[in-house]
Order: sequence, then C-alpha cells, then structure tokens
Amino acid sequence: MDTAPQEQGCRRTLFLIALVAGLCLVASVYAWEHNIPLFRLSTPAPPYPTPSVAVAFDFPLQPPGAYGPYVQGLTGPLAVDTRYGAQNPAQGNRPNCFRDVTGGTVPFNQLYHAGVDLFALDETGNVVWGGASGIPVHAVADGVVVFVLDAGREGEIVGIEHLLAGGGSVYSVYWHVARPVVRAGQSVTLGQPIAVVHDMGLNSHLHWEMRTFLDGSRIFPAGTAGARGTCNRQIAGVGYTWDDDPARAHPDYYGYLDPIAFVTAHR
Ligand SMILES: [Zn+2]
Repeated sequence: MDTAPQEQGCRRTLFLIALVAGLCLVASVYAWEHNIPLFRLSTPAPPYPTPSVAVAFDFPLQPPGAYGPYVQGLTGPLAVDTRYGAQNPAQGNRPNCFRDVTGGTVPFNQLYHAGVDLFALDETGNVVWGGASGIPVHAVADGVVVFVLDAGREGEIVGIEHLLAGGGSVYSVYWHVARPVVRAGQSVTLGQPIAVVHDMGLNSHLHWEMRTFLDGSRIFPAGTAGARGTCNRQIAGVGYTWDDDPARAHPDYYGYLDPIAFVTAHR
C-alpha cells in the first residue's frame, strides 16, 4: 500500500528531530568528558556601580559551625579533601584542561582545590550527606554582584566584588547555588541572602572562593600552565589551580585566597 505524502513528510520531520536530539546528546557527552564548559560569561560584562567599602566579612552559611569542608579521616571516610589548597589523588588521573609545557593535559589529581566546599556537619563534626541542600547562601560582605551564571547541572554561580578599606577589591564566588535572588549590578549587604545551595543529592555543598581577580584568564602570566590553557577560558570561575613549576604551584600564586582564613581575619 502506498504511503500518503503527508505521512512521509511527518516521518521525515520526526527523523530529523531524532537526529538533532542525538547529535546534541553526543556533543554534551563529549563536552562533559573533555571538560569543555557549556556556559559562557556574557561579554561585555554589564556595567555595575562601584561597591561601598566592605568593613566586615562573615561566612556564607550560618551558623558557620554547622558547615565545613570534607576532610578525610576527620569528617568522613572518603579519600578526598575539599579544603582550600588541597590536592586530591582520589580524583584520578583523567586529563583536565590545564596544559603542561609539552602541550599535554594535566591529570586531575595534580590540581589544587581553589576554594572550600561547605557541607552540612552534624554536632560531632561529621558530614551530613545532602544536608546543605536548600540552605540559604548569604553575601559574605557589602558589595556589588558582578555575575550570575547558569552552569547547568552544576547549578548557578554568583560572583560579588568587595571594595577593601585599604584599596583594591576581593571577589567572593559561590558555586552550586540555585534560585538566585540577585542580578549582576545589584548592591548587596553583609548577610543578605543571595541564593540557596543547589540540590546535588548526597553531594550538595557550597563551593566558595575568595580571590583577588574577576576573570581567571587575566592573572596567568605567560609561561605558566594557566597561560597555556585553563579550565575556564575567559569564564569566571576556574575552580582549580595548577602549575607545572612546583615553586608556583601554591594556589595563592594565582590570587586565590583561603576563604576561611580571610573571613576569620576580617570578621
Ligand atoms: Zn569545590
């Protein structure tokens, strides 16, 4: 029996839709496996007002004692350490987007954590898996929101600039948040709720950075691993630091600060 022309056209349309969906899926998986970010900072960045001077800082999750990094042997049994500056052999040697002097990729287990992952802790200091999901995230000081990025399954990322009394700025960056209630260009005050912790199941946590730069690409001098290629490629929020010169490998070299130490010194 002959097929009606409309039915043929319909099948062709369905086939094309399936083909496009399939290609999107393949591209997404490729991007994920090769650490190609699927989100971009819109350029140019929107103009925003100069922040008022931040006179005091505090922790983004309250009360501070109820949240902390995962530390092997201290807050749980896994072989990972989510404190600032920690290296994580448990992350494996899969390639990441940093490049060594030969142009080769740098294994993930050589990267240093550039922030602190705040998990919910119970009264004995052990991680409560998933306990941070939905918890309000507060601005750590007076400042101006400089970006809000949608990172897909990673949740959203909020960046705030804080003007220091002695001159210069620091930036607080909050990864894996959801339902942001601030937008770029908006002034915020110390303790103001900006979002909630994104639901990532058992792994729900706030990745929190304090840094002296806005865009990671600007602070990598020529000849460093960062200049050869970073995970972010102009996107705010590298999340990790690495350099193939051990003398430069310490995260502070890149302008990342220890968030807990910084806030403790500026409370
Ligand atoms: Zn983290």
